[in-house]
Amino acid sequence: RHLLCELGEDHDDDHAAMLWEEGGRLGSAVWARWAGKNMRLASLGWCTALTPKEEACGLFDDHPSAHAWDVTDPTLEALKRELAKDLPDLFP
Ligand SMILES: [Zn+2]
Ligand SMILES: [Zn+2]
Repeated sequence: RHLLCELGEDHDDDHAAMLWEEGGRLGSAVWARWAGKNMRLASLGWCTALTPKEEACGLFDDHPSAHAWDVTDPTLEALKRELAKDLPDLFP
């Protein structure tokens, strides 16, 4: 299946997409990391950064890009717009 990188555009290091959580917020999560056709799985702890409102960053510790709240992914936004057209009930 197609994985969308969660690191936004123009980051260093491999792309990353979270697959599943292990042990919730105190635990870690399994991430797919890939560069080109080489993909590997990695169990990574959470990024500990918080916004001033204490919202947690949804990315892994030491991630290469901006924190999750600063990432805008035009691909994902475009995908959401397309989905919203087909499934308006899910995107109020
Ligand atoms: Zn990427
Ligand atoms: Zn972060």
